[in-house]
Amino acid sequence: MQNQLRVYNSLTKKKEIFEPINPPFVGMYVCGPTVYSDVHLGNVRTFLSFDIIYRYLTHLGYKVRYVRNITDVGHLESDADEGEDKISKKAKLENMEPMEIVQKYSNDFHRVTAKFNILDPNIEPSATGHIQEQIKMIEKLIEKELAYEINGSVYFDVLKYNETEKYGMLSGRVVEELMAGSRELDGQEEKRNTVDFALWKNAGPLHIMRWESPWGTGFPGWHLECSVMSSKYLGERFDIHGGGMDLKFPHHECEIAQSVGATGKQPVKYWLHTNMLTVNGQKMSKSTGNSFLPEELFTGNHELLNEPYSPMTVRFFMLQSHYSSTLDFSNDALKAAAKGYKKMMNGLVLAKDLKYTNDDSLEINPKTVNQINGIIDNCYRALNDDFNTAQAIAQIFNLLKKINSISTGNLKTAEIGEEVFDKLIHTFITLIVDVLGLKEEKPSDVEGIINIILDLYKQAKQVKDYDKVDEIRRKLKQYGVTLKDMKEKVGWAYEEQ
Ligand code: AMP
Ligand code: ZN
Repeated sequence: MQNQLRVYNSLTKKKEIFEPINPPFVGMYVCGPTVYSDVHLGNVRTFLSFDIIYRYLTHLGYKVRYVRNITDVGHLESDADEGEDKISKKAKLENMEPMEIVQKYSNDFHRVTAKFNILDPNIEPSATGHIQEQIKMIEKLIEKELAYEINGSVYFDVLKYNETEKYGMLSGRVVEELMAGSRELDGQEEKRNTVDFALWKNAGPLHIMRWESPWGTGFPGWHLECSVMSSKYLGERFDIHGGGMDLKFPHHECEIAQSVGATGKQPVKYWLHTNMLTVNGQKMSKSTGNSFLPEELFTGNHELLNEPYSPMTVRFFMLQSHYSSTLDFSNDALKAAAKGYKKMMNGLVLAKDLKYTNDDSLEINPKTVNQINGIIDNCYRALNDDFNTAQAIAQIFNLLKKINSISTGNLKTAEIGEEVFDKLIHTFITLIVDVLGLKEEKPSDVEGIINIILDLYKQAKQVKDYDKVDEIRRKLKQYGVTLKDMKEKVGWAYEEQ
């Protein structure tokens, strides 16, 4: 394989050569969706970025176990035990059971990821399915005196942990500064230190999602599920942990503290963080109200959108930037992406059709051969440089130029030889389909297309070209369409046998 894969590790803040702990196996954990509201396009960007990472590692031959959780415990997302959890709140609003909400938004999430051709993970564990394991981890932390119980809640003792370990190593936060900067919030008074975070919360009478525990009825803290489920399915130390940048602190920082506290091991070798999708420079988020839903994008039905954009156009748009840079949404960029995507798909159609033709009168042109090999190397160089899809796409367009030249006859296949021809076609198709995950969006108006064929049929009949008439009938039949020759007009029906 052309040079080695290097990844930017948020923990060491360096680009490092990717060396899995136990090759060829790779364990990858990505924080999944919270399932109490719709997925917006910003979320899609993050899951799409990890889709590329998963696809490329698999392409390189690694056996990846990809775990992406479902956050279905209704956390309060802060330690303030005030009000309702988000899932119960939504359940009341939509007049549903909390678990109905969870199912509804999980289904919705899966529909959206499928639309964008984002592959399913190998394991998709849910937080509510792992309450026992979460209780066990809390017990371990209490045993190690890194957690304490108070009024039926359990907190992680950050100051105690920080005596022997370094809290803040991922996010660069300093405990003393955090202490000085934090003010007491309602419901937090019971904690020993303001930086401590909840492992278990005592459920108030209104709290619907609740489980029995040694500390009474309650629910697990926000950060715990990921430490528990990643270690359960990938081991106490595994290769890749990912999520959006906004999860670095406190979520991932707390995960490190919990896991190091419980096992004594750094849980993750490479921490990977994706950057944010922004709108006019501002992070797209549910709370800011600047987010739009995939469905709105496909219909164009939103004040920010000038026109509808297809799922693959959006996928292409997102891949044109590196996952660690911010990406600003704009109609202009999406329009340009639609063009680029179609150009690439036309190349794909051509490439699937091209055949090698022998020609003894031609000699192999070493310059062209070197050029093609050079472009292929550049494709891999880009992807090996921390999955740089933006640069890879530019190189794939250079491959497309060669494919177009072959198609127009400007470049004869015999000038590059069969081996290089096969390599060109194979690399082009594999990178687009398997690695970038782009697929053709076939025209959806099949009826319109059949009508065009019916017109051709009528014309053939008029000029009494019965061979053509029979051919059209026969070919349409192969696709399950029967022509109905009526007196006044020609119609069609589904083939019944
Ligand atoms: P959530 O369901 O809100 O927990 O978010 C799921 C994932 O989407 C997390 O990894 C977030 O970091 C990520 N995310 C949220 N907003 C954005 C955004 N505007 N751009 C990219 N990723 C985002
Ligand atoms: Zn997580």
